[in-house]
Amino acid sequence: MQTKMLEPDIKGINAAAELLRGGETVAFATETVYGLGADARNDAAVAKIFKAKDRPAFNPLIVHLADFDMLKDLAEIPDAAEKLLPLWPGPLTLVLPKKPASGLSDLVTAGLETVAIRVPAHATARAVLQAFGGPVAAPSANPSGKVSATSADHVLAGLQGKIAAILDGGPCGVGVESTIIGFENNQMVLLRPGGVAIETITQLTGQVPVIAKTGQITAPGQLQSHYAPDVAVRMNASEPRANEAWLGFGANPRQAPGLNLSANANLTEAAMALFDSLRKMDAICKRNGLAGFAVAPVPDTGLGLAINDRLQRAAAPRVNG
Ligand code: AMP
Ligand code: MG
Repeated sequence: MQTKMLEPDIKGINAAAELLRGGETVAFATETVYGLGADARNDAAVAKIFKAKDRPAFNPLIVHLADFDMLKDLAEIPDAAEKLLPLWPGPLTLVLPKKPASGLSDLVTAGLETVAIRVPAHATARAVLQAFGGPVAAPSANPSGKVSATSADHVLAGLQGKIAAILDGGPCGVGVESTIIGFENNQMVLLRPGGVAIETITQLTGQVPVIAKTGQITAPGQLQSHYAPDVAVRMNASEPRANEAWLGFGANPRQAPGLNLSANANLTEAAMALFDSLRKMDAICKRNGLAGFAVAPVPDTGLGLAINDRLQRAAAPRVNG
């Protein structure tokens, strides 16, 4: 299959919507990372996402909607979820009880009674969702377990020839995946830290989300090894060892091949640079014959929680392949 590159103009948006209607897969820009979309009501189309990514079938996908109005046919909204709705459109995913007549493919929800929903803010994502006019299932547009894509080139590098098209919307502004919140007994549960800071959620709702128990693996974003470059990653380092490159945050301790997530220690800038930096660090290590790279400590506040979550999984032993 030849992967078409589409521009985010009317022609490109309509071509992307047409491919989705025809049951094909299209990668598109969102503010978090690039998503690999397919018609969420079409089993065969959704199956193509799992095949292109080589994603295990037990892992559910996030359903993307153009606007909040489309939600009422798909899912119930617990009282605790109502309070979070002002954060849409944006980098927030809510795991909600699925309505029996949702019409969603069971592959999307991996047979669960809940469905993960997001209304993205990115203009390109919104335009294609609007032109398509229905729910679009879209995980991150990268081979399963690998580093997420924050540019059209990243998508092409991982999925060329395996998907119908890429709708290029430029580099992603947030750079880490959405924050995922579920609900248990009307209490918020943080399933994955992401683009909306927990502090923002606490401020808005007056409540602190419960952290999901580890070991309850329901999806790849929760697997220990994920977002993994080929080379080894060592977190919270004070300086690089002899056989390591250096991924800095703030002032660099000493010269070593590498990059800085943000020289001014700015978490927003670091999140935006994260996945591109992981890809580039992989190449830098290989070019310099280094076994891996060390990463400077990143504070656990704001977007730092999501950055550290991704780094932890990038650094984890590769037991999941
Ligand atoms: P990705 O789209 O690659 O960022 O991965 C999708 C993420 O959505 C997974 O990591 C899950 O944590 C989450 N997810 C999707 N559906 C559900 C669900 N019904 N229950 C819990 N988590 C879900
Ligand atoms: Mg992913």
